[in-house]
Order: sequence, then C-alpha cells, then structure tokens
Amino acid sequence: MLAISSGKGGVGKSTISANIAVALGNIGLKVGLMDTDIYGPNIPGILGSHDRPVTNPDTGQIKPIEAHNIKFISMGLLLEEGSPVIWRGPMLAKMINQFLSNVEWGELDILIADLPPGTGDVQLTLTQSAPLTSALILTTPSAIALEDVRRGVEMFRQAEVPILGLVENMSSFRCDACNHNEYLFGHGQSKSTAEELEIPFLCDIPIDIKLRECADNGQPAVFSQPTTAGSEAIINLAKIVIACLEEK
Ligand code: ADP
Repeated sequence: MLAISSGKGGVGKSTISANIAVALGNIGLKVGLMDTDIYGPNIPGILGSHDRPVTNPDTGQIKPIEAHNIKFISMGLLLEEGSPVIWRGPMLAKMINQFLSNVEWGELDILIADLPPGTGDVQLTLTQSAPLTSALILTTPSAIALEDVRRGVEMFRQAEVPILGLVENMSSFRCDACNHNEYLFGHGQSKSTAEELEIPFLCDIPIDIKLRECADNGQPAVFSQPTTAGSEAIINLAKIVIACLEEK
C-alpha cells in the first residue's frame, strides 16, 4: 500500500492521488484508491462519481466504486452530504480499519491511500495497522509547507514506513501567451529539503489550469487531457512510483 501524504491541505494531494491512481490504471495495473481525508474527501468529485457504495449481501463487505478503470472508496461517499464532520479519533480508526478489512477490493496490484493533511489520528492508525509499503510526501515549494514535510518525514520514520520520496506540486507556471515560466513560490527549496532529510526528490509538477479544470469537472486530467504539462508530469510520476516499488 502506498500512502500519499502532505503536511498541509491545499497542496494538491487529492488531485495528484486521483490522477496517479488513474495513470497507474491506464498503464495496466489493478488499482484501489482509499480516500481517508475526512476533512476534505474530494476524490469522488475528482473522479466524477458520487455513487453510494452498496454492501454485498453474501459477504457483508462493501463494494468499492469503479471509475476510470480504478476502484475507490471515500469517506465522502459514506458521510451524508453537508453533514458536519464530527468524527473523533476512535471513530476514525474504526472507519480506516473498515476500509482496510471490509471492502471487496479483489485482486489489486496497488492500494493507494490519500491521507488527510498533517500527522494526526488517521495517519497514526494507518501507519500502525496497515501494511504500508511506502509513503510519498507531497509539498508545494513554500517554506511553510516544507517545514511540514520535516514533521511528516519524522512521523513515517518513527512508524518505520519507508519513504518513497518527495514530490513538489505547483512548482512553476508557464504562461500560454508568452511562454514565460515563473517559479511563483521560489525554486529549489524542495530539492534541498529532500537532500537535507535524506529522502529522494522524485519530481515536480507544474501549475496546470487543465489539472484544476478537469478535477472540477470530474474527469481526471491524465484521462481526459493526457498531453498537458501537468498530466505528463503525473504520468511520469506514476512510472517513477512503479520503478521504486519494483526495486523494493
Ligand atoms: P489537497 O487535497 O492537498 O487539499 P487539492 O487536490 O484539493 O488539495 O487541490 C487544491 C486545489 O488546487 C484544487 O482546486 C486543485 O484542482 C488545484 N490543483 C492542485 N494541483 C494543481 C496543479 N498542479 N495545477 C493547477 N491546479 C492544481
């Protein structure tokens, strides 16, 4: 199982998780995606499917939803629309364990967990109770986000979860009109942070309007706009993930 984590919200974790999952599915892998971000369960929106999961009457297990060639399950599909998120630690832990043991995933090559931001209960439960093979940490290039990367690295190290590496999202923006590339949040800090923390720096992903538009329209960009800069970077990242996991 691969956990995708970030120190803070809004760095693009759900967008990248959903798109990596679909990219791996396109390469031919059997992919499951588990959206454990109760504070912002956005995966159903990004994958364009809000179907409520049903239980298999024979096995009592929850059937995951299928979209864009992958299977997924999300807190967002189980919470009533608009209901306040009042889950406490123990409830959350129960939910995560349900996701792990009570969902009919079938045979999978990879199960991806989109974690909530930070280093709280869900992360602890997952790192303690699931066979996490690796963690991928996502950041933006800002100094504050990178401070959170350090905390994330510390958490996975304490839990003895191998860290696949650091990915920098929203690295730069290329203007369509003049083709100028601007590093809006600075340049090079993520790479040097990765070096300092002795974790691999995997790649960067540019700001790409198509990534945002496609996510908003429930059509992941790697599926509907596979040749834009953002999609190409994520498809490349999916290949890096496969190579890293094969090495292990
Ligand atoms: P998180 O899960 O970390 O809270 P999201 O995946 O919800 O973050 O992303 C926050 C917003 O940024 C969304 O509107 C998403 O479409 C957008 N976004 C994420 N990554 C990119 C990118 N590389 N280029 C353009 N927009 C992006």
